[in-house]
Amino acid sequence: MPTYDYRCKACAHELELFQSMSDRPKRKCPACGKNQLERLIGGGGGLLFKGSGYYQTDYRSASYTEGAKADADAQKKSDEATKPPKESSKTDKPKNSDPKD
Ligand SMILES: [Zn+2]
Repeated sequence: MPTYDYRCKACAHELELFQSMSDRPKRKCPACGKNQLERLIGGGGGLLFKGSGYYQTDYRSASYTEGAKADADAQKKSDEATKPPKESSKTDKPKNSDPKD
């Protein structure tokens, strides 16, 4: 299945979804709740990872799991180091009202 990237026009939240071609585009932004998502078709890849808020959505995908795994590895390796290199990207959240983490 292809991967689609969305960005919210209201709050600039970005997320990625696996959808089939025939699925209807998602509209509702999980961050702000407005129906302002727009699907980004084949845009430059660099744009997609702008801001680590990418992983902060309600959509806990395989890529989220891999990211978490990488974080764990990084933390293990840097146990003796001063600080985990990726930690800042996890705490640098954009607007996200979900307090679970
Ligand atoms: Zn939004």
